[in-house]
Amino acid sequence: MDFLQALKNEIDHNGPITIHHFMQQCVLHYYSSQQVFGRDGDFVTSPEISQMFGEMIGAWCADIWMQMGSPKEFRLVECGPGQGTLMADILRATKSVPGFHEAMIVVLVENSKALRQRQLQTLEGVHITWYSDWPQIEGDSPMIMITNEFLDALPIHQLQYQEGRWRERVVGLSAVGELTYGLAEPHPVATQSIPEGLPEPQEGDILEVSPSRRAFVDFVDQQLSLSGGAALYIDYGHLQSAYGDTLQAMKSHEYVHVLPTAGEADLTSHVDFAALQKHSEFLAHYTTTQGAFLKALGIGLRAEALKQNATPEQAKDIDSALKRLCDNEEMGQLFKVLSVASINLKPAGF
Ligand code: SAH
Repeated sequence: MDFLQALKNEIDHNGPITIHHFMQQCVLHYYSSQQVFGRDGDFVTSPEISQMFGEMIGAWCADIWMQMGSPKEFRLVECGPGQGTLMADILRATKSVPGFHEAMIVVLVENSKALRQRQLQTLEGVHITWYSDWPQIEGDSPMIMITNEFLDALPIHQLQYQEGRWRERVVGLSAVGELTYGLAEPHPVATQSIPEGLPEPQEGDILEVSPSRRAFVDFVDQQLSLSGGAALYIDYGHLQSAYGDTLQAMKSHEYVHVLPTAGEADLTSHVDFAALQKHSEFLAHYTTTQGAFLKALGIGLRAEALKQNATPEQAKDIDSALKRLCDNEEMGQLFKVLSVASINLKPAGF
């Protein structure tokens, strides 16, 4: 039985499911079963656009490691590493940093078996510890945590304001047996996650909350508070909490309808970065846009250096990658960067 039919059967037996449950099932199935990345896949991420992206992150890691006092052992963790391209570029860019490779313990968190296989190929020869889920992350050495387009894949709840109260958006079955949206009593976890400081909701407003993203960032905060280090979260989203339905599905580089493509398309939602920053006496938060971050780290100079040895055609590709990553009309503005770091550190790029 295919995934969609299994989902429909589940709803038929147990009743409508939350968007949270729907998204969790879809994402898990999707990343386990499809060719998702690149020109022949469904979408392209920053590390797949150009090696310059990972090189800048590599320089960021080296800088923060040195600020940490170049510890003799530290965990370099990436959650949701996709094809392993970002980690490969980070490792290449840090090769010449004395002591960095000797000190690092590379940890990847990936729940798709197919993608783990892919990461193994990309990172051949690198000693890696894999976990399928982030709560399994072990160790007490300092940590550098990197994620790119990982938070957006973690599930959300959608609440909708109706007649003076919040209701939960759910997925049920229509009279003809197709998936359809409905409203139900809100899940307590969802209502407890409503951020403070939002304007008074209006009839029909949709609010997305993600206890899963919050739990993940809380876990990393705790690790950083105990062991020291820094996290870098890159994703598309907003720096201030706001209302709106941002759940989106992408297939072959086009937006498609969410319900009929369940499990077959990349399903994500915008990350509410404000909701992920919790005050702590041990940690400091830094936010900016991807464009500003990469420029501050010197991506422009790196592009010029690469162009020195490039054919005219390669030089054109480098320029267009630079534009895609940094321009406000492309990924430069929509993508945000959040760093959470031990209070004594000053992450580069902000
Ligand atoms: N960071 C990569 C890939 C982003 S796609 C890049 O920039 O190209 C999202 C990645 O997160 C995939 O590798 C997917 O399998 C993984 N993923 C999604 N949800 C996950 C979860 N709950 N636990 C572990 N990995 C997850």
